[in-house]
Amino acid sequence: MTADLETAEFLTFAEEAQALELTPRRQMAQVFHEYGRLAIAEGGTTEAPAGAPEPAPDLAGAPTLTETLGRAAFDLRNAPETRARKLDRPYQGLTWGADEAAGPMPLHLPGDEIAQPADEEGPAPAPEAEAEPPLSARLTGRVAVGLIIVSGDKPSLRLSQQDQTLIVSEVQNGLSFLASQSPARDVTFVHDIRVATVTVPEVTSGTSYEDFEAPWRDAALQQLGLPAGTAGARRHARNLRTQLGTNWAYVAFFTKYQLRHFAYAARGGPKLVMHFGNDGWGSNQIDRVFAHETGHIFNAPDEYASSNCDCGGSWGVFGEPNANCAACAPGGGVDCIMKSNDWAMCNSTLLHLGYNGVPHPAMPAGTS
Ligand SMILES: [Zn+2]
Repeated sequence: MTADLETAEFLTFAEEAQALELTPRRQMAQVFHEYGRLAIAEGGTTEAPAGAPEPAPDLAGAPTLTETLGRAAFDLRNAPETRARKLDRPYQGLTWGADEAAGPMPLHLPGDEIAQPADEEGPAPAPEAEAEPPLSARLTGRVAVGLIIVSGDKPSLRLSQQDQTLIVSEVQNGLSFLASQSPARDVTFVHDIRVATVTVPEVTSGTSYEDFEAPWRDAALQQLGLPAGTAGARRHARNLRTQLGTNWAYVAFFTKYQLRHFAYAARGGPKLVMHFGNDGWGSNQIDRVFAHETGHIFNAPDEYASSNCDCGGSWGVFGEPNANCAACAPGGGVDCIMKSNDWAMCNSTLLHLGYNGVPHPAMPAGTS
């Protein structure tokens, strides 16, 4: 068990981990994460890792920020206090619509259930971007995750080293869940972590997502040498896909700056945005919210009733309907990460995410 997941994860070298997937000793091994030269692999559910956990690898030379945070995050996930806290989560199993009196906010604002409205995405992508293959068509193979952690220059807006480690560990836990659900065991998240401190004032009133997000986001993108707006996030994702040799890529911003809403993503990518406080769900439950928002990046729809979902539509690479929508599925549907605060994956979301190896009704066996 790693944190509160049914996984047996261990820290190793990225180079060794890639070879490990091919060795008979660990036929079921899967690399869940890469952080520079480090990797977090999983022993497989049918075969526990032989003997004691792998020793933590020592790196020659100074570790990069991505390596340092990836390792610290893994240690934090394995701390007994973390496991205990996660096994006793507030609002465990609660619908993401959060209809409990005095509970946390719903995951999305009414009317914005699916994702950030497209018309707030900023300037239209340049023609060459439109010709670019999609950045997140399905959750398969290697996936670049560009984390951008943005502090302000006021103490209340500062993300300390401890905060940064918590963010990375929560992201790691959420993405370990999504990796562990891959039937073909072929999903690897390849991380790139940047931190920025910007000096723009906090926006405390506005009517759009852009009103709150644009000042600090664009200042951070500028520090990273990227264009402003969604175009900058898209450029970053494209660059990471090339540099890290991945199939897909997306960008995730974390901040303490006030937002229009604490978590949102544009369906199909390229970016998601989260507030460190994660509203009433709490910073220690960023993991499940991040997994849910990543679901939107990879084209999965919401399944909780107050999202106004219906059981139709055509979602993801297989064009599957939203059959587990709580409003219309028999018995209100089954537990699922797109529906409620659970580590649960339903068949509908498996299909929406387009994992390799998902048994698909419309495809003959062996062709998925
Ligand atoms: Zn959602």
